[in-house]
Amino acid sequence: MTEFHEAIIIGGGPAGLTAGIYLIRAGIDALLLEKIIPGGTPVNTWNVENYPGFPEGISGRELMELFTAHARKTGLTIKEFAEVEEIKKEAGRFVVKTSEGRYETMGIIVATGTEPAKMGIPGEDDFLGRGISYCATCDGAFFRNLDVAVIGGGDAAIEESLSLANIAKKVYVIHRRDTLRAQKVIQERAFRNEKIEFLWNKKPLKVVGKDQVEHITVEDTKTGEQIEVKIDGVFVYVGAKPNTSFLGNLVKKDEAGFVMTDEALFTGTEGLYIAGDVRKKSLRQISTAVGDGALAAVNLEKYILEHCCPKYHNFPIHFQ
Ligand code: NAP
Repeated sequence: MTEFHEAIIIGGGPAGLTAGIYLIRAGIDALLLEKIIPGGTPVNTWNVENYPGFPEGISGRELMELFTAHARKTGLTIKEFAEVEEIKKEAGRFVVKTSEGRYETMGIIVATGTEPAKMGIPGEDDFLGRGISYCATCDGAFFRNLDVAVIGGGDAAIEESLSLANIAKKVYVIHRRDTLRAQKVIQERAFRNEKIEFLWNKKPLKVVGKDQVEHITVEDTKTGEQIEVKIDGVFVYVGAKPNTSFLGNLVKKDEAGFVMTDEALFTGTEGLYIAGDVRKKSLRQISTAVGDGALAAVNLEKYILEHCCPKYHNFPIHFQ
């Protein structure tokens, strides 16, 4: 059986949940499909300090529980564990094939975010769950009073180094350059933290161990010297890869796979909008994802009002 909804949102992170709130409040019959449970990437963030309204900061998990509760209270239906496998456009409608069934809709907002990028070095896959992790919030507690390495120099690496410094004995931040791209305020906090040591200009080469990770070999990018850093765990924060495999040729992507849109977050395929980190953009934050979600929803609403068959919508007669 195929279920019809006027709009479908794919992805339950900040962008998707915001889009849901806006669409439902506009009277659109919108359904949100989520691969696992709502929350998105921020649930793995120890402390969010740059989302307005929380002067003391808030854990990513708590913030996203508030987003989800807000979306549900507005009336948004969230279908959990429904992974989208394929989207096709047939006779002016989208057909959405998921692990949980088939849906048809007039318009779609894709807000599927990103997944962690890999270093792509020997040992990385072999030691997954045995010392290699992409989530300090999930796995940090296993490294109490042990030594860990964090790879990367962006917001995620530095924020999570600070969180790991509360648990681990020692945190080595291994970065391939000698300046960080993370926000200044957290950089300075990390520089002041006695448990955090920066290993600058070091490129990860391989992760080595027997049953568990025992060390990571890095190469000094200036001298070529190879160094073994003895650690019990490696937390990898080397960027993000967009989740777009189900989009086929309905969208255009940049060389890194992020989806291109215009300023209205429109993809070029009628009725298809993109919001949040999955989109090619210059700033990926919860605040910008929220803005994207609102904008995509308002633009999709306009599209639906113009195109949706009267049979399916409940709008005042002047819209039909
Ligand atoms: P990111 O900003 O892209 O940083 C990735 C870091 O990994 C960079 O320092 C990069 O080095 C390094 N790197 C990349 N490939 C590498 C490799 N193969 N080996 C070693 N190092 C490598 O990624 P992110 O920190 O995961 O953040 C993703 C996005 O989410 C960003 O836009 C970020 O601002 C946002 N974010 C925001 C917050 C917040 O505001 N609270 C928290 C987390 C994430 P180079 O610097 O040399 O390129």
